[in-house]
Amino acid sequence: MLRRDFTRAALLIAAERYARAAKGLAPLKIAEVRVIPTSAGHHYQWVFVKILTSEPGLYGIGSASNVHNAAAVVTAIRENYAKFWTGKDPDRIEDLWQSTNVRTYWRNSAIQNNALSALDMALWDIKAKRAGMPLYDLLGGKVRDAVAIYAHADGRDRDEVVDNVRKYMEEGYRHVRAQMGGYGGGGMIAPGKGSRPRDGFQGPAFDEDVYLNEIPKLFDYLRAKLGAEVKLLHDVHEHLTPTAAVEFAKRMEPYRMFFVEDILPPEQIDWFRRIKQVSTTPMAMGEIFTSPREYAPLISERVIDFVRCRVSQVGGVTAARKIAALCEDFGVRTAWQEGGDNDPVNQLAAYHVDLTIPAFGIQEENHFPASVHELMPGTCELRGGYLYGNGQPGLGVDIDEKAALKLPLEPMPPGDNWTTVRGMDGAIVNP
Ligand code: MG
Repeated sequence: MLRRDFTRAALLIAAERYARAAKGLAPLKIAEVRVIPTSAGHHYQWVFVKILTSEPGLYGIGSASNVHNAAAVVTAIRENYAKFWTGKDPDRIEDLWQSTNVRTYWRNSAIQNNALSALDMALWDIKAKRAGMPLYDLLGGKVRDAVAIYAHADGRDRDEVVDNVRKYMEEGYRHVRAQMGGYGGGGMIAPGKGSRPRDGFQGPAFDEDVYLNEIPKLFDYLRAKLGAEVKLLHDVHEHLTPTAAVEFAKRMEPYRMFFVEDILPPEQIDWFRRIKQVSTTPMAMGEIFTSPREYAPLISERVIDFVRCRVSQVGGVTAARKIAALCEDFGVRTAWQEGGDNDPVNQLAAYHVDLTIPAFGIQEENHFPASVHELMPGTCELRGGYLYGNGQPGLGVDIDEKAALKLPLEPMPPGDNWTTVRGMDGAIVNP
């Protein structure tokens, strides 16, 4: 052997030894990407991604759930993303996130972000399992002891809303969202009532003047019956036109809201500047956002108080941590969105982020039937207005894959769903 070759071989051995000593872990590869779509036996449209590594028994789980487009997400991951990820190094989370994001050229779509989020959560799960730590420890450790959540109270009339808020207060909840009559409730004209177009729309119709009169009265009543201590929230579901939104924010001031959510549709978010100039009612927005171009200006201009993106719609733990860091600099807080369609993996990803960020505000409540806790061991527990994980390495959740595959996705029913609200003339009211 030539002296030069010998030196090179010796250097390579030394480099390998150093890598092993510094890291203590063998190199890892993504061996397989499995997509697990499931209804969980409860009409959910859940899509999970299980990333298996070259180390036997080491895998991670991520959420790609998209209630409105589950089949498209399944196909996109199976046919496109999975092939790109297989063989890659799962340790390089940021690099895989970035390279996946630019690979499709067009980005910031809901489906693209579902795939990115599932990848990201699963890779953090793997890394934290490898480190033998719950994810929150790997992310810098807890800055709070538990994650506060807000409950959803509704009712057909004011007294029923009062009773339902009170039930949650008795359970220990400090924060309760109060609605009256479901989606768009408080602003609906009953089917067939009022002046309708001839042979036209006769269903329940949203009218923003009705809403602007009814909802402040509801909160006046809630404060009178429940006192000042409970922190009250309300979701407008984006149904107001801009000037009505400004007026609504002003009318809600006397009730000292924790926040008013989604006062404007995403197309009109520039109007938040106007709201901030004239009202101190705290504003929360973001559950429909998928792009930094939507949330970043609202945060950096300090015109919202809470950002409410869904972690699995913005790019997972990595994206949520970046949003939280931006919030911290500008005095905005987080309130990650849940919603009844959401799944235990996304909830846990949000939970691990929440425990580690100074900019945490609150997380939306979501609870699951007992059979989901069986199907997905490690699903969060809810107790007295707080969310609890289990402290196991990684995200701390698993999935009974065989059982899940026996509970496949159900086809989406044709026709309108809850997002479709119409006005008196039959035109769509934007959510
Ligand atoms: Mg909302």
